[in-house]
Amino acid sequence: MTPQSEDFSAWYNELVVKAQLVDRGPVRGTMVIRPYGYRVWELLQADLDRRIKEAGHDNVSFPLLIPESYLKREAEHVEGFSPELAVVTVAGGKELDEPLVIRPTSETIIGEYMAKWIDSHRDLPLLLNQWANVVRWEMRPRMFLRTTEFHWQEGHTAHVDEADAMRETMWALDAYAGLARDLAAMPVVPGEKTPGERFAGAVRTYTIEGMMRDGRALQAGTSHYLGTNFAKAFEIQYQDEAEQRTHAHTTSWGMSSRMIGGVIMTHGDDKGLVLPPRLAPYQVVIVPIGRKEQGEEAAAEARRLGAAIRSTGIRVHVDDNRPNLSPGFKFNEWEMRGVPVRIELGRRDIEAGVATLVRRLPTVEGQGKEQIPLGELPELLPGVLAEFQAFLLARAEKFRDEHTATTDTWDAFAAQVAGGWARAFHCGRTACEDDIKAETAATPRCIPADAPEETGTCVRCGEPSAYGKRVLFGRSY
Ligand code: AMP
Repeated sequence: MTPQSEDFSAWYNELVVKAQLVDRGPVRGTMVIRPYGYRVWELLQADLDRRIKEAGHDNVSFPLLIPESYLKREAEHVEGFSPELAVVTVAGGKELDEPLVIRPTSETIIGEYMAKWIDSHRDLPLLLNQWANVVRWEMRPRMFLRTTEFHWQEGHTAHVDEADAMRETMWALDAYAGLARDLAAMPVVPGEKTPGERFAGAVRTYTIEGMMRDGRALQAGTSHYLGTNFAKAFEIQYQDEAEQRTHAHTTSWGMSSRMIGGVIMTHGDDKGLVLPPRLAPYQVVIVPIGRKEQGEEAAAEARRLGAAIRSTGIRVHVDDNRPNLSPGFKFNEWEMRGVPVRIELGRRDIEAGVATLVRRLPTVEGQGKEQIPLGELPELLPGVLAEFQAFLLARAEKFRDEHTATTDTWDAFAAQVAGGWARAFHCGRTACEDDIKAETAATPRCIPADAPEETGTCVRCGEPSAYGKRVLFGRSY
């Protein structure tokens, strides 16, 4: 595998296939998610779905095909999405009267039905979520990060006023930041997008940005306050307490299979994947060692140990069915596939009543293989996994902080965004953003929510800063 330092992109592209997460799909930019990759998605999905439901949202399922006329009703939305649309014009052997768009996102079709379902202020808030696959014809596809078809959830909600819709917008952003931190061990920066980076049709767009191990940013989830733009386009109205017909304020928010790419690029190294335990299909793999009868004995003991560990709720896999492969090969393979903890079990271990525990990465300096009494392993492992999860988050946080700097001169800014993120003042003009992008390939990632209030002059053009805060810039995926 190409080392990260040599070519990070090549490392990534080779690894996703080698680790059996995905295979290339037959159509450009599409991917087949294999069981190992899909399990990571399911683990993310289960946790996010729980958060969404606990906050009072209901899941729904809308059609994949959207009449083209729906998209045209919101001018900015259709303009933004037009270049990315896949459109069905022939079906059942006949040219269709109206082309059908394969959903790139569902604000329009859901808006149409919200208008039907909402009548009085008592019908609000309407809190919907959909788990779906969507299609966007991407120019620069890359597995997980930007695929033509991807999996996601899209939240769509309607509210009586701006204040309530904004609360919802920030709730979703918080949920995404929490999920990224707690499950993916990604210390993301939440903040608002600048106008040039807004979702097509949104009044305000919020994002969580993660730093990958090459210093680039990944937008890992977005939450949009749509104002009354879609409510006006689709006549989403309610009768308020004074019996006035009033437009609802809507939101939408999405997190996708891109997150898996984020996990790979936040934690992976030259040996391969490093999976945070909470997202690892196998948190522990047991490799029995030995040939013939000794191998049989070790395999039987490994299965017993596996069952004991499984009963504590840990996802464990016993690698006992590949006698033609050497233990060394298996160790390397599970390392490459990012399993947090490996347990080696040979004859000498069994005789001594112990197993050998190896973490995917040392969590303290000098830590190596450890001999643990067999009987103690099941109760010890939850702590080992929790500690490993916390270690990955702390390591990613340290990496991000070491690769982020406050810059006030153009030269310092340009040098900083070559390998990390820069906090800098910006004038807020989209033309100036374009200029910065043309020269450095960096874009404004967000106006961080927790940045201190301060003003200065634009790092590029010297005009007074906008936003009352520094903006976070970086190159991105
Ligand atoms: P959006 O509806 O454009 O705000 O997208 C919601 C989220 O989906 C983004 O924040 C990305 O994390 C993700 N996303 C957007 N486009 C793609 C894509 N082509 N492949 C995978 N994920 C995507």
